[in-house]
Amino acid sequence: MTADVVQFEKTCPRCGALKPVADFPRNRSRPDGRGAYCRPCHADVFREYRSTEHGREAVRASQRRSLARKKAEFDAAVALLSAEDRARLGL
Ligand SMILES: [Zn+2]
Repeated sequence: MTADVVQFEKTCPRCGALKPVADFPRNRSRPDGRGAYCRPCHADVFREYRSTEHGREAVRASQRRSLARKKAEFDAAVALLSAEDRARLGL
């Protein structure tokens, strides 16, 4: 691990501004846990991406995934209920 230096500020490669890391959206897939672009740039990039066919499909796929996850969580919660509770809730 080389991450013992806590980064408080980073430079956005898009607008070139040095900003506090709190101004960068969280992103678990990145080593520092923050997105590359600052929030306003990230919003712009995402808006542009979403306007492409590939981006629209990616947004739909992510909505489908989150819907499937919610459904799985709901089913898991229902499975924990007693038969009596399920009947009362009409499930
Ligand atoms: Zn920026």
